[in-house]
Amino acid sequence: MTGTLAGKHALVTGSTGGMGVGIARALAEAGAEVMLNGFGDAAGIEELRSAMAEEFGVEVAYHGADLTNPDEVVQMVAAAEDRFGALDILVNNAGIQHVALTEDFPAERWDALIAVLLTAPFRAIRAALPGMRARGWGRIVNNSSTAGVQGAPFKAAYVAAKHGVVGLTKVVALETAEVGITCNAICPGWVLTGMSGPQIEVIAQTEGVSIEEASRILLAGQPSKKFITGEEIGALAAFLCTDAARQITGAALSIDGGVSAG
Ligand code: NAD
Repeated sequence: MTGTLAGKHALVTGSTGGMGVGIARALAEAGAEVMLNGFGDAAGIEELRSAMAEEFGVEVAYHGADLTNPDEVVQMVAAAEDRFGALDILVNNAGIQHVALTEDFPAERWDALIAVLLTAPFRAIRAALPGMRARGWGRIVNNSSTAGVQGAPFKAAYVAAKHGVVGLTKVVALETAEVGITCNAICPGWVLTGMSGPQIEVIAQTEGVSIEEASRILLAGQPSKKFITGEEIGALAAFLCTDAARQITGAALSIDGGVSAG
């Protein structure tokens, strides 16, 4: 897809680690200028930013907004518009997880997950839409999950937020269907990242098995029996941002090694 997004400007939340890096790289490879966001040590983030800019020959910026703070979300979108002159592509990707029985689920963790996974995408979309409407072109990709279309025990906040993201996606898609903007959700299965890694460690501890065996246990429910890669997620997100995908909107697209077929 080299060059298909030349002249476009993108913001990818949660792109200092995990699959957000794969998404940012795919957009940069397709020619978009990209603003990164997420936590991490300053030197590591600068290394990531400058390496991406050099590899793909595009401008790569960074904004350190904490997405639990709605004001910082809005400031980040404004900063992307200021820096690039426009924000054409918004990828709401950042995420956190907490796993507990619903009756034991700490209320403050519920609030934090809803803030990052649902309120931040809403606030970012709300801030980005006026510019997209004015230019008659926009692409919004929301990273949901298999948990956005089916339940999973011990993940009350995550499943609720991810279902909410799919609903938000449909509403925005319907509201923008005639004005050159698309809004889609992607629903990944298991990807090996900083989010899934700790869940594998818990399986290893509770089952008394190696990390390799714990990974096999985790992947038992994913028909491909392989982790999905950040590159594969990035390729799907980047395709949704092309002109070729202009009629794909309001979809919740599975990229899950067959989970949703079962
Ligand atoms: P990750 O933990 O590897 O990366 C998360 C990113 O979000 C990091 O850059 C982190 O710094 C950033 N982030 C977290 N809290 C933030 C905050 N308050 N403000 C700003 N940035 C913040 O996770 P990942 O697995 O790459 O997850 C990316 C997305 O994919 C999430 O929305 C997640 O729910 C979703 N997802 C993950 C999997 C999986 O198997 N890993 C599967 C389906 C969906």
